[in-house]
Amino acid sequence: MQRFFDSVVDLIIKTSTDLPPDVRAAMKHAVDTEDAASRAGQALSIISQNIDQAASIEGAICQDTGMPTFEIKTPVGANQIWMKKQIKEAIAEATRRGKLRPNSVDSLTGENSGNNLGPGTPVIHFEQWERDDVEVKLLLKGGGCENMNIQYSLPIELPNLGRADRTLEGVRKCLLHAVWNAQGKGCAPGAIGVCIGGDRTSGYVEAKQQLFRSLDDVNADPRLAELEAEIMGTVNTLGVGPMGFGGRISLIGCKVGVQNRLPASFFVSVAYDCWAFRRLGVVLDGSTGTITQWLYRDPSVATIPMMDQAGFKRTGREVKLQAPIDEATIRSLKVGDVVLISGRAYTGRDAVHHHLSSHAPPVDLSGGVIYHCGPVVAKQADGGWKVTAAGPTTSIREEPYQADIIGKYGVRVVIGKGGMGGKTLAGLQQHGAVYLNAIGGAAQFYAKCIERVDGVSLLEFGTPEAMWHLQLQEFPAIVTMDAHGNSLHRDLEQESAQKLGELAGARF
Ligand code: SF4
Repeated sequence: MQRFFDSVVDLIIKTSTDLPPDVRAAMKHAVDTEDAASRAGQALSIISQNIDQAASIEGAICQDTGMPTFEIKTPVGANQIWMKKQIKEAIAEATRRGKLRPNSVDSLTGENSGNNLGPGTPVIHFEQWERDDVEVKLLLKGGGCENMNIQYSLPIELPNLGRADRTLEGVRKCLLHAVWNAQGKGCAPGAIGVCIGGDRTSGYVEAKQQLFRSLDDVNADPRLAELEAEIMGTVNTLGVGPMGFGGRISLIGCKVGVQNRLPASFFVSVAYDCWAFRRLGVVLDGSTGTITQWLYRDPSVATIPMMDQAGFKRTGREVKLQAPIDEATIRSLKVGDVVLISGRAYTGRDAVHHHLSSHAPPVDLSGGVIYHCGPVVAKQADGGWKVTAAGPTTSIREEPYQADIIGKYGVRVVIGKGGMGGKTLAGLQQHGAVYLNAIGGAAQFYAKCIERVDGVSLLEFGTPEAMWHLQLQEFPAIVTMDAHGNSLHRDLEQESAQKLGELAGARF
């Protein structure tokens, strides 16, 4: 098995940088379905360009390269201990090469291991089969969508949908609720893996297992096939849309499995994956470890690019902003405006926001831009840094801190994804600031809008959590929360909740 290590490195890199054909086809359908001039259409155009860019330069599709989860089948008697060690080394190697972001953090100290290794990372499951070759499947699922996983214990009363009983009707209600609940926070359009039954633990495991199915397959159980088809037919009428911007496509896949349960329990577990649905596999020769077959993709078939033109199309109505930005300019913006920001922005996510809640910032944030982003950065030979992937992270995690930080330090712009809540909205109005929604997962697209890295503060938090000093060049984003108390996220959530209620009335 002398090629095992190299084959696993190849698998990791391909999975992180090139979406499989079934996901591309589903996203192409989304592009063709949404109006190109709408917010949803513009988001999909950036996503499509990002998918193409990532594949062409072998860069990470999304800066959050997720929790690596391996499902492995081995011949009887194969040395799984040795394979596990090799897989861990392959993960560290892919991280060294910048194809995976260091993502494994000590849960007590917050320290990043720097190489994606640590207790519980990566996740590796082995199973034996009566074949001589080895099958390795890999799923890279990021934190934004992982946070949107949800588990229901039936019977349950669901907002807008009423009671979900221990029936397939009840399960349907849960799945509609799960997609509505995720809104844009999990980088819609997403795909859901579902388990009906099991216990709290095995239910989530099976739900994630369902994400290893191809998006275009048909469930072997006709009852579940019908459920999957019905969810796909119904859920897209909710109007959540790409990035939660509203639109016709909220979900690109629904895969449902079933496990026996205890009589007293009835769980419905949902694993929500984002549009950056990174999942591939290989079959390896059992004696050499050489790749004999790719799963989910045929390398002899050329990849069709997602975009047939230059990508994000400007309308001429975009508002150009140069940081630092004054209050009057900010107050002139309104929800729906597309802006192009140039100048200095500082990244800040969980550790930085927690730090700023009790410490002065290490830089002057007055009139400034905070970008909710944990980029992939590579150290250069001259000692400088280069950002290689830099999409937004889910903003709602910073809700407890954001309004205070805006008010205390004079921040004018917050960029992120998925929107924020009422406290931040009030802070924007009071202090004269805006929230801009960038397109989640578009890590390559946005890396190209970063001219250079001018410095870094708080690097002791690890590279994703540090405060990077970025020089932006016409970074596009949409005003989704303005300084006048308007929030596109709040409005769309309310509208889709109403549709949820209508669906409940019509179907159940
Ligand atoms: S596309 Fe969005 S949800 Fe998915 S991994 Fe990237 S940031 Fe997270």
